[in-house]
Parts: sequence; C-alpha cells; structure tokens
Amino acid sequence: MADPSLNDNPTACPHCASSQAGLLCVCPAGKSPVLVVEMSQTSSIGSTEFFASQERKKERNTSRESSLKDLEFYTFGRILGQGSFGMVFEAIDKETGAKWAIKKVNKEKAGSSAMKLLEREVSILKTVNHQHIIHLEQVFESPQKMYLVMELCEDGELKAVMDQRGHFSENETRLIIQSLASAIAYLHNKDIVHRDLKLENIMVKSSFIDDNNEMNLNIKVTDFGLSVQKHGSRSEGMMQTTCGTPIYMAPEVINAHDYSQQCDIWSIGVIMFILLCGEPPFLANSEEKLYELIKKGELRFENPVWESVSDSAKNTLKQLMKVDPAHRITAKELLDNQWLTGNTLSSARPTNVLEMMKEWKNNPESDEETNTDEETEQSAVYSPSANTAKQPTNAAKKPAAESVGMTSSNSSSSKLLSAESKAEPEKSSETVGHASVAKTTLKSTTLFRGKKRL
Ligand code: ADP
Repeated sequence: MADPSLNDNPTACPHCASSQAGLLCVCPAGKSPVLVVEMSQTSSIGSTEFFASQERKKERNTSRESSLKDLEFYTFGRILGQGSFGMVFEAIDKETGAKWAIKKVNKEKAGSSAMKLLEREVSILKTVNHQHIIHLEQVFESPQKMYLVMELCEDGELKAVMDQRGHFSENETRLIIQSLASAIAYLHNKDIVHRDLKLENIMVKSSFIDDNNEMNLNIKVTDFGLSVQKHGSRSEGMMQTTCGTPIYMAPEVINAHDYSQQCDIWSIGVIMFILLCGEPPFLANSEEKLYELIKKGELRFENPVWESVSDSAKNTLKQLMKVDPAHRITAKELLDNQWLTGNTLSSARPTNVLEMMKEWKNNPESDEETNTDEETEQSAVYSPSANTAKQPTNAAKKPAAESVGMTSSNSSSSKLLSAESKAEPEKSSETVGHASVAKTTLKSTTLFRGKKRL
C-alpha cells in the first residue's frame, strides 16, 4: 500500500544537528520544513537479517540525504490497528524482507499535547534495549507527519489473546510475568517508571504451544506515553501525578501521595491476577467504590478458578499488591521470587528489606516466623513448601481508605481519555477533581491528572 504522505517534501533542518543519526529533533527554531530521521542505536533483535538491514540503512543514510522518501524502502501492508494518534500498518522492508509495524501520526490531528506524549515515548524508547520492551527502529518526521518504525508484534495485544482463552494457566502466567518482571526491573534500574502497565500495553510478538500444551508468549511492553525518567535526589524522584488506568492503579497513585516506581509493581500484580482468573482484582459500579477497594487492597480468591492456583502464586500476588509501597516487593526482588523462578528450594527468607526488618523486630533471636497474620503470610510465601502451604487468612495491614471515584466496566479499550488530559504533566496544576475523573468511565482507560511535574 503506497502511503500518500510520501509526497511530503522535507529538507534537512537548518537549525540544529538533527540529521545526525540517533537524535530526535523537536527543533523549535525551525519555521521552514524540518526533516528528522532517528536511527536507533540499540536493538534487541539479534538476527543476521537485522544486522544486514542496519548496515544497509547506514548506507542509505550516508549515500544520500535522509528523507521521508526513505519510507519508500517499505511496502505498506495491512492495517494492524487504530491508535489514539493514528493508524498502525504492517510494512515490509523491500530490501531485507523484514516485517515492521509503522505507526503513522498526523500531527495536526493529534494536537500538540498528544505530540508531547509521543515525543516523550520516543525519547524513552531511544534509551532502552531489552528483549521484552518494544524496539523502536526508526523515526521519520516532517512538519505534518510522524512515522514510528517499530518491531512487529504479529500476535497482537495480550489482552486479546487472554480474552480468547478466558484466562491462562499458572505456568503460562509465570512465563509472562517472568518476562514482564525482567522488563520492569530493567526499566527501574534505569530510573524509568512506566506508569501505565496493563494488558493492552503488552503486545505479543510471537507464541507457540509447548509439549505440555501450554502457551508460550514472547511479550513486549509498549506505550511509554506516560513513562517518566526520574532524575536527581530521592525526593525529586517521587511523583505526584495521578495517572494510569483505574483498575491497574496503585493506592498511592490514587491518593496522589508521593510515589515511586513501585506503582508499576502494583500493576504487575493486577495483570497477574487477571491472567490467572480472567477478571480484575477489584471491580465496582462506581468510581468511589473502585478506588476504595483498591486502597483497602483486600485480595479475594473467590472465583472457582483459584482452587487450582497454588498458594505460592497467591502469596506472590499479595507481595505485589501490598497497599504500602514500601512493603511491596521490588522489581529486583521479584526476579528472585520463588514462584516466579519456580525454585522451591530457595531460602525461606523475605526478600523485601522492610519485611525482613519487620520479621527481625518481631523475633530478633530466631529465624522462626512469628504468628501474626502478616508473618503467617510471609511464612507461606517464603517457606520452601510454599506450594502446599495453607492459604493465609489475612492480607497485609491496610491503611485507612480515603475515597476517590472511578467507574469500572469490562471494556478492553485502552484509548486515551483525551490528549489534553493525558498531557497534563506539562502543567503544574493541582489535582483535577471529579469532573476530570468522571470523563473516564472505561475501566481500561488511561487517566492523567497532573499535580506536579517530576
Ligand atoms: P494506542 O495509541 O491506543 O496506545 P497504538 O497506536 O500503540 O495504540 O496501537 C494501536 C493498535 O495497533 C494496537 O492496539 C495494536 O493492535 C496495533 N499495534 C501497535 N503497535 C504494534 C506493533 N508493534 N505490532 C503489531 N501491532 C501493533
């Protein structure tokens, strides 16, 4: 499929060094048409074909002026989806035969706020290189259009795969959470917080059914529009912007208290819960109720599906969804989690430092677990026999709930509320109140209520 915008006739930016590979230009000085081409410096794709294609692209860019004309190197194919800002097409590199997904954005239609989010996404994607994070290969930009050439995920959204199956088995879920945990640990290590982790933002590159008839999914985390890279001291690194998608939103984000990367961990918990049973942990028919439930954080395993899920998995969920982010397991700790690694012989010690201190405080002279509800829970989590441990009766201590509202539904929509509301962090306003929240009646809709910018 030929793309009509290939007729755009950009010239290199006269105002800055944006024609250099690896730089994204948002050159404010340029009133004349500005060409920007970004070449990725990193890639998680390791095939020979990929490197050959990289070499050829280098040649393309050195042999002649880069331009939107380079899009002619791709044959546009079927539409993969309609995003908030534009269509996503499958495209084939004519020289290598490699398939890509190209997101085409009409800047005028998207609006300046949406473009800021897209630019934020691009600038973060430029700095990452992980096998379970979507790879951004190239960016073409003209005054009217922006094209993102991304790794193709042929199997679509994880949400769609799950909806087809109802839910995943424990082993299938473990594989998905292993990949997700690895991606998030990588991001957190780089001080990047995703802030909108949800099934709709996880794409499936490929999948196969193994000998045990279990589905193995190669997943990729996408949509970094709400992501932030923390800078400076710890307190500066705390965030206060209420954003994300209600059913995946951590209690501290709802409260707009200072929060950190731990909000992503909560969302991993919500994702894991949904993968295992097919429905979210908290559902309510009013905004207030949903937020109250999240802030109480009482996980219920009432659906009959949970009878076949191990206590070890349930306890991992409780660690991921501790209401107090300081007591919530970190991404790094999650990588060593017994359920996740499948290593039931590993040490029966808590991995979260605060949990360790609490255990020591309760019983400084012994390694034995104490008998409060919470320690019982820890014992079940970390016991070498955790898979057969009795399900604890009580979850972690819950803070007093304050009410905030959000309606929930089973919609799979992941569209932005509006570009304006999602782009709020650029402003330094107080938390937008009910009116703004009430616009977001879909459970999977992304919210953004800026309080202060990082
Ligand atoms: P949104 O703007 O809603 O976040 P996107 O623009 O990222 O959505 O994508 C819109 C749709 O295009 C997705 O729902 C998905 O079906 C498809 N899509 C996006 N990126 C890819 C990709 N890399 N590979 C395959 N399909 C994709």
